[in-house]
Amino acid sequence: MEKIHEKTDILILGAGIGGYEAYRTLAKKLKRIRSPKIITVIDQNNYFTFTPMLHEAATGAVVPYHCAIPLRSIIKAPHRFLKTRVEHIDPVKKTVTTDAGKIQYDYCVMALGSQVNYFNIPGAREHTYHVRTLSGALRLQRDFVSNLEKCTKEINLTIVGGAFTGVEVAGQFSHFVKTDIEKLYPDKKVHIRLIQSNEFLLPQLPQKIRKHVATRLRNENVEIYLNSTVKKVTAEYLELANGEKIPSDMNIWTTGFANTAACYLDKDFCERERVPVTSRLQHQKFTHLYAVGDIALVVDPNNNSFYPQLGEAAHKEGQYVAKHIIADIQHKKISEFRFKSFGTIIPLGSWDAVAMIGPFTFYGPIAWWLRRTAYLLFFPGLLRKIKIAIDWTLHSISHRYIIDVENEI
Ligand SMILES: Cc1cc2nc3c(=O)[nH]c(=O)nc-3n(C[C@H](O)[C@H](O)[C@H](O)COP(=O)(O)OP(=O)(O)OC[C@H]3O[C@@H](n4cnc5c(N)ncnc54)[C@H](O)[C@@H]3O)c2cc1C
Repeated sequence: MEKIHEKTDILILGAGIGGYEAYRTLAKKLKRIRSPKIITVIDQNNYFTFTPMLHEAATGAVVPYHCAIPLRSIIKAPHRFLKTRVEHIDPVKKTVTTDAGKIQYDYCVMALGSQVNYFNIPGAREHTYHVRTLSGALRLQRDFVSNLEKCTKEINLTIVGGAFTGVEVAGQFSHFVKTDIEKLYPDKKVHIRLIQSNEFLLPQLPQKIRKHVATRLRNENVEIYLNSTVKKVTAEYLELANGEKIPSDMNIWTTGFANTAACYLDKDFCERERVPVTSRLQHQKFTHLYAVGDIALVVDPNNNSFYPQLGEAAHKEGQYVAKHIIADIQHKKISEFRFKSFGTIIPLGSWDAVAMIGPFTFYGPIAWWLRRTAYLLFFPGLLRKIKIAIDWTLHSISHRYIIDVENEI
């Protein structure tokens, strides 16, 4: 394949939550100021992934296309999309090397996200599923349904990690078992275990919420192991630090983020494997290089900690960077970036969640509906939002998608 060598005005690396929002806002604003500048968006996939819903796709609560939107249909001329892998960024020469060739830029936005962290635990990578990518979620769904269709009477499913993702995955699977599996597979038994290294699930949340979540999961027959650290994973069992062996047919790994900035940038330009940026989201040494989302290390000036690795933060950072680039093109200044979370919503299966918004806490269907509504805002395009809202409504009152595609080519 012939390698490209070209130049673009604004280069966005990664079209996930942060990168796509930077593109959307930039394209709109460039049009408004009648600027001829061209944006090039690069991603290794030709679709935008909405990661926070992948565990729902894995359990058939939503269809996969609700979490994956083709990028070529939303990145429109004169701007362009390139499906290729980013390999290296040289902020001194202002070039990015990809497996398709080299691209020179005036402004670059790094939005390459993060990956699963297996903490070098033996067997974890080989013998667990994850819900961090669409293909990961689809692999989990395919193998789980295929196991349901096999003659085995019991499936032991173990979820590692009792923070947000682990609790959400446990909530979805326990609801799946209680509704569809008990009705459609009455002779099957699914035993769900949730392993948490801390003494509580969701340790960062208030005691009242932690208690509510743990009680709700236990009532749905999720067996919770607290103060338990996984030391080894095999195809038959997980071994805990205290030597206990937990029999398990399928494991889902939900714990930890692996930060990846040092895979692309020289080590001297990274901090904690992330991209250290100023309160204007520009790299501390290179003002034309921005970073947003999980890969960015942004200090919260209120408490000197870092802004969280959340879709909500990535979305707002993407928007801010777009505004900052437009201001820079127009030789204007804008105020510094500040992130304030709208709230925390923890889904616990379909039609159930806990939402903490300002001083208010909501439980059950209202909280679940609030979450779905908030998520709709992340999706590109009004028509698509309406279609997805109708699909969700119809889907949430019928059975999940339980399709066994094991024998397909
Ligand atoms: C199961 C789960 C549930 C979550 N729930 C919530 C929630 O409820 N609320 C919330 O706010 N956050 C949630 N999060 C966190 C949220 O998904 C992330 O913080 C958010 O996606 C980060 O956005 P980003 O733009 O940095 O990265 P991403 O959205 O991950 O996008 C990164 C993009 O970069 C691309 N890419 C990566 N490497 C390369 C490369 N080398 N070359 C080319 N392209 C590349 C990827 O294909 C991807 O499109 C959840 C995460 C998970 C895993």
